[in-house]
Amino acid sequence: MDITYTPEEQAFRAEVRRFLAGKLPKDVSAKVLEGKRLTKDDHERWHRALNEQGWLAVHWPRQHGGTGWGPVQRHIFDEECAAAGAPQIIPFGLSMVAPVIIKFGTEEQKRYYLPRILDGSDWWCQGYSEPGAGSDLASLKTRAVRDGDHYVVNGQKTWTTLGQHANMIFCLVRTDPAAKQQEGISFLLIDMASPGVTVRPIITLDGEHEVNEVFFDDVRVPVANLVGEENKGWTCAKYLLTYERTGIAGVGMAKAALRHLKHVAAKQVGNGRPLVEDPSFRLKLAEVEIDLMALEMTNLRVVAAVQGGGVPGAESSILKVRGTEIRQAITDLLRRAVGPYALPFLPETLEAGSNLEPVGPDFAAPLAPQYFNRRKLSIYGGSNEIQKNIVAKMILGL
Ligand SMILES: Cc1cc2nc3c(=O)[nH]c(=O)nc-3n(C[C@H](O)[C@H](O)[C@H](O)COP(=O)(O)OP(=O)(O)OC[C@H]3O[C@@H](n4cnc5c(N)ncnc54)[C@H](O)[C@@H]3O)c2cc1C
Repeated sequence: MDITYTPEEQAFRAEVRRFLAGKLPKDVSAKVLEGKRLTKDDHERWHRALNEQGWLAVHWPRQHGGTGWGPVQRHIFDEECAAAGAPQIIPFGLSMVAPVIIKFGTEEQKRYYLPRILDGSDWWCQGYSEPGAGSDLASLKTRAVRDGDHYVVNGQKTWTTLGQHANMIFCLVRTDPAAKQQEGISFLLIDMASPGVTVRPIITLDGEHEVNEVFFDDVRVPVANLVGEENKGWTCAKYLLTYERTGIAGVGMAKAALRHLKHVAAKQVGNGRPLVEDPSFRLKLAEVEIDLMALEMTNLRVVAAVQGGGVPGAESSILKVRGTEIRQAITDLLRRAVGPYALPFLPETLEAGSNLEPVGPDFAAPLAPQYFNRRKLSIYGGSNEIQKNIVAKMILGL
């Protein structure tokens, strides 16, 4: 099934390909394509290359250094980046806190923080979830009490992705415990180097350190770091979530993973022939490919509606549910394709240049960790069950 792009869109795709061929560091793309571990430096090098090209801030208005691209260009860019093995851009600064600062921040906050996000001076993380506040985010308890020109913050955040690298965290904090849940929350920018901030790792099922707990003990935060009005942080929080779900379908990444699955299925032999020729495996492969084609069409319909001036609504929930289910199904098939070779747990083989011999074919080692890691897709950004509730209410009217 071919999708027709205009000549301008095709020219844009060619330009993106040229840029990726020249500027995406080869050692970094090799790691991404082989499923190896990325370092902070790998992310930062790719961040710098995009910034030098002016292609980093795809969601920002031009006046602040954004690309000014429409949704179709963003879609093409995502697809080409995933195909070339570009690392995912860390979203917390560029796609989460920046749009909030642009919309609700003071002129001084915009002048100070936005250039620092672009040039990589600040690495942001997201302090929304707490042990008792995930899906029910408005029940968060981290407390900020005004003391002169500071807030004093006490509490705990959890699941803080890449908080170990971050020097800044944007937090939802409770500033008025007497108000109704959503009304007593504020949006605060906190320097991670402040006395009283402690970051502790959480090691996930794949053996990796990607998420953390962050504790605040009497942390003093200047009132100047409040974004928007005190007790109106829920408005910022909701605005940010619309950006968090942008591009959530992950079509580009799913297509790249499907290509890898076909490569693995062509190499692996089962019952005396390549797995890709096995009727039962072919059936599963075809199912997931058809699902992905349908997702891409749905995604493009939403993209076209946005291009025409619409606003993505509950459709982004459908994209999130289907996109993450498909990406998880592909990791499941990849793991099944190599069978017992997916079983040994050798985290060292995820390190580029590791001397440790993998058990089985080269591509087998990362498949089990990837399978476990991708379970997160249906949990974060609003769990899939919560997305289904949104679809039931907003689309089906139930
Ligand atoms: C890998 C990873 C990275 C993350 N990174 C960050 C981050 O950087 N910053 C951050 O702030 N948060 C982050 N999160 C947190 C994430 O947003 C929450 O995990 C998510 O919102 C779910 O909340 P919870 O874990 O408290 O689960 P709960 O809300 O306790 O939900 C438990 C289960 O019950 C279901 N459920 C809950 N309520 C309903 C309902 N009303 N109807 C139907 N089912 C329901 C859920 O779908 C889920 O299956 C991350 C999570 C993961 C796993």
